[in-house]
Amino acid sequence: MNLVFATNNSNKVKEIQTLLPESISILSLKDINCFDDIPETQNTLEGNSEQKADFVKNNFGNDCFADDTGLFIESLNGEPGVYSARYAGKDGNAQANINKVLTKLDGLKNRNAHFKTVICLIINNKKYFFEGRVDGKIISKEKGVDGFGYDPIFVPNDYDITFAEMPLSEKNKISHRAKAVKKLIEFLTQV
Ligand code: IMP
Repeated sequence: MNLVFATNNSNKVKEIQTLLPESISILSLKDINCFDDIPETQNTLEGNSEQKADFVKNNFGNDCFADDTGLFIESLNGEPGVYSARYAGKDGNAQANINKVLTKLDGLKNRNAHFKTVICLIINNKKYFFEGRVDGKIISKEKGVDGFGYDPIFVPNDYDITFAEMPLSEKNKISHRAKAVKKLIEFLTQV
């Protein structure tokens, strides 16, 4: 079975291929000659993942899946949420995003937050959604150098280190994306 992963992040493609049985081959957008800037204009993770998967199915005909992730902070009414990548501006600068979060949270007691990933799969002309979530807290000062995005300010519940201080193997056991991918893989290995 061939499945397109509608992402330009080659690390994500590699990561998921290693978790799947050989009978399922993951194709990248490049593999199907898709060089379009796929629109992501919805205001929910579900909407964006569906929009990206629909784009591939409608324009290229392949069965495919797409993901979308956001960080939701309780005392900021769920910000940055679906706008996590470009919270501080279009260029998606991680440091500027972190600075904006820390400034907005300055002096606020409630630091609860969660990451959520939604995956939309289109297979055999049907759509399926898979979700993963990890809850934790936003600390007031960055810690750690690994990972990406908001990792240096996010401490998952039951831990006292940030995602950026954790080996990737540990993050992959508990992360939002890992949980959503696990559900996708369980489904795919049964189809
Ligand atoms: P994407 O949908 O996977 O591209 O994620 C959107 C944005 O959410 C990224 O640009 C990051 O800012 C943030 N993000 C997603 N996953 C993570 C993570 O595991 N750690 C930290 N930030 C993340």
